[in-house]
Amino acid sequence: MANDLKRQYDLYASEFEQKALDVLRKGWYVLGDEVSAFEHEFADWIGTKYCVGLGSGLDALWISFRLLGIGPGDEVIVSSNAYIACVMGITMNGGTPVFVESDQYLNIDASKIEAAVTPRTKAILAVHLFGQSCDMTEIMRIAEKYGLMVVEDCAQAHGNHWQGKTVGTFGHVGCFSFYPTKGCGAFGDAGAIVTNDESLARKFRVFRNYGSEKKYYNSMIGTNSRLDEIQAGLLRVRLSHMEELNAERQRLASRYSQKISNPLIKTPSVRPGADSVWHQYVIRCAQRSSLIEFLNQNGIGSIIHYPIPPYLSEAYACLSIPKGSFPYTEKAADEVLSLPMYNGMTEEEQDFVIRTLNDFRG
Ligand SMILES: *Cc1c(COP(=O)(O)O)cnc(C)c1O
Repeated sequence: MANDLKRQYDLYASEFEQKALDVLRKGWYVLGDEVSAFEHEFADWIGTKYCVGLGSGLDALWISFRLLGIGPGDEVIVSSNAYIACVMGITMNGGTPVFVESDQYLNIDASKIEAAVTPRTKAILAVHLFGQSCDMTEIMRIAEKYGLMVVEDCAQAHGNHWQGKTVGTFGHVGCFSFYPTKGCGAFGDAGAIVTNDESLARKFRVFRNYGSEKKYYNSMIGTNSRLDEIQAGLLRVRLSHMEELNAERQRLASRYSQKISNPLIKTPSVRPGADSVWHQYVIRCAQRSSLIEFLNQNGIGSIIHYPIPPYLSEAYACLSIPKGSFPYTEKAADEVLSLPMYNGMTEEEQDFVIRTLNDFRG
């Protein structure tokens, strides 16, 4: 047993199939009615004025930094425990990522941000990792104090909240991925940004389509990061069920937390003030490799998110950040393990995972 994307498709199969056929039969396939309807519905759901559909979550990140003016010499503060795309979104513009240690919730330790601010700091990237929100109160306080921009990476936290307010609405821009495994997943690559800034939203719309507002008249050097009609249509179906999908994940997560009782396994905790939509249910275990093997022997697949912190990956050897720089993050990389958890997972399936975990003897 492992994460199974087909299950979430099966939950609403007839709606997805009807929508796919409708779009195929319309004869208009990129940036059309489905995209603009999705943009309106998604912005409404998140609680921002604007949403702009894009080609991927990485596009949402790098285009955000580009349009906010991040370039060579500019520093962006980001958690040392993040996904590689978060860092690429910064470096693709020539910006410098400045890492800040993560805490027990595996998100940025906001109490360490201020020490990382320099005269070159331009922005903070708040990554709501594994579905749990960062401490947005502290992040926004620091941003205001030093005049920094805030970009939220909500690729794992669609519809999640910090102190009752939806993530993606705190910063200048909220970035989303709709990659199929994400909480609000499409059936291929897709992404979006949300913002309340009208002129910024307009720039995203122009930039994503070769810098052109009117066909063949280009006002800026842009890119091709357009959202497909079929993905937007399917995302509208998905979006209409997001409250129940998120509630189901929350139910599954609390069953795991209540029933896993093995002292060798540490279940995740949630920061006071934060909610989680449980993009991943990440346990920690000092004997992780034997646990993985034990789970495998019982037919249970698990995944490590992530085995190597981005600053230690081969891709970022150029940053010359030595091993040992962020001990908490590095320890987490050695201990974390994501359990199977997906929409459509049955209680029997989950109970089998729980029994197996509780039988593990190290
Ligand atoms: C998935 C993800 C991205 C990148 O999204 P893509 O659609 O794969 O480009 C960025 N940040 C985080 C935290 C992610 O999980």
